[in-house]
Amino acid sequence: ENKVKNAKLVLLGDVATGKSSIVLRFVKGQFVEFQESTIGAAFFSQTLALNDETVKFEIWDTAGQERYHSLAPMYYRGAAAAIIVYDITNPATFTRAKKWVQELQSQGNANTVMALAGNKADLVEARKVTAEEAQAYAVENGLFFMETSAKTAINVNEIFCEIAKRFLQA
Ligand code: GDP
Ligand code: MG
Repeated sequence: ENKVKNAKLVLLGDVATGKSSIVLRFVKGQFVEFQESTIGAAFFSQTLALNDETVKFEIWDTAGQERYHSLAPMYYRGAAAAIIVYDITNPATFTRAKKWVQELQSQGNANTVMALAGNKADLVEARKVTAEEAQAYAVENGLFFMETSAKTAINVNEIFCEIAKRFLQA
């Protein structure tokens, strides 16, 4: 029989790194150049079938602004998975992503599956963060890393699939 397992998933990361765009790409297969900025947090759900099991992601897309920081624990506590997003063209967002990883490691749930997404991978000419640096950081800190593009769809389904696999194995 096909079992459905619910997985609470949170997206964290700096403003304008593409969190909402990744969700929009995954849930609706769409991309917009002028994505409205998120206020507080937005909720989406999407199922993903893997072999004989189905994961129903309950997705919390957070705002990323510092003024909403105190709300973040409501979203990452009890989360089965977290995607921490940075923009490969903006090193400050990579620094911010590392802070989120530290916060989850100290305040979050030890078995949350953590993914690091280097988004806007389509903007190759403007790249400022190398994939090698991010990969090395991910390995050291026990999360998995992928470069994504909500614009071209590269690795968007893949990152959710990898999360689902790890979630089902846990
Ligand atoms: P959020 O604040 O992290 O939710 O970021 P948004 O999803 O609102 O995206 C911020 C801006 O970056 C918007 O103008 C998006 O169109 C753009 N954007 C998001 N993802 C990508 C991407 O993969 N490639 C490019 N080129 N632009 C992106
Ligand atoms: Mg947003």
